Amino acid sequence: MSIASEHLLEIREMVKDHLEHHEERKLSADREQFLMQQIREQLAQENAVLVAHYYTQDAVQDLAEETGGIVSDSLEMARFGKDHSAQTLVVAGVKFMGETAKILTPEKRVLMPTLEATCSLDIGCPIDEFSEFCDAHPDRTVVVYANTSAAVKARADWVVTSSIAKDVVSHLHANGEKILFAPDRHLGDYIQRSTGADVLIWDGACIVHEEFKADGLRHTMKEHPDAAVLVHPESPASVIELADLVGSTSQIINAAVEMGNKEFIVATDQGIFHTMQKAVPDKQLIIAPTAGHGATCYSCANCPWMAMNELESLAAVFDQPDNEVFVDPDLGKRAMLPLQRMLDFKRN
Ligand code: SF4
Repeated sequence: MSIASEHLLEIREMVKDHLEHHEERKLSADREQFLMQQIREQLAQENAVLVAHYYTQDAVQDLAEETGGIVSDSLEMARFGKDHSAQTLVVAGVKFMGETAKILTPEKRVLMPTLEATCSLDIGCPIDEFSEFCDAHPDRTVVVYANTSAAVKARADWVVTSSIAKDVVSHLHANGEKILFAPDRHLGDYIQRSTGADVLIWDGACIVHEEFKADGLRHTMKEHPDAAVLVHPESPASVIELADLVGSTSQIINAAVEMGNKEFIVATDQGIFHTMQKAVPDKQLIIAPTAGHGATCYSCANCPWMAMNELESLAAVFDQPDNEVFVDPDLGKRAMLPLQRMLDFKRN
């Protein structure tokens, strides 16, 4: 068993424990409205902007949109936070997104509803083991997914998100470069197959996307024969093979807008449905099955860490002393180089 696979077993246990002990706070409609108003006022008073991921809860996405922030994928979140004039960024997502915002704009204050919201890909790629892996393959260009710590980014030549990973690796392959890719094995495998590049892959996985099942998906496709299948590339190869489109969250939403189908089976976190349904109000969105018939799932297509961005925590974000994101300045400077390369690549 590889080191990363051992980490994945630990991570699954951690998630199981978290889900068993985490009480989902169901807010009354009045309480929700009260908190939302409080957050609107605080954002205005503090000259702050809310930057939210598609996987956060509906009310958080609504707040980001109506207060002049953004709901987006991690690439656009990074770009928006960097270009916006606000001096405080409130990042509703997971820890690596807050760290990325801080690396790109060290002069800004970056707050998160909770710093405990992490990601199985980030946890499954500890810097010491990753550094050893890189040292053992010095002839390879190191490309890491955005879902990594600041330290792992600082060790990389390139950072990519799922929206540009394939294009960046294609570009490097055309230059004759061999690639070391981390940490998502499914995304790495997809990139390798679709670009033909020589890619050595770290053995990590997203605990949400890894649960999508090809057998269950075939069954759903039979029930909805006219539906197009939209799949995030963190899903297993057997699921990707059934896709009409493989893409990042933004690319999945765009596909639903542009394709003529009236139904879509979607293999990514269900949080995306809120913004996606607004973009295609007359189309039907169906979540891809996560664990087959009669089986159980850990995440059930809901990232447990994204779910930690609750309204109560968001409303307290300016009062908590321990939810500001800090990145060591030297580390930040080194991580900035591969991140900037990613932003520049997308612009070109
Ligand atoms: S959905 Fe997967 S990749 Fe995204 S934050 Fe959650 S664990 Fe990480």
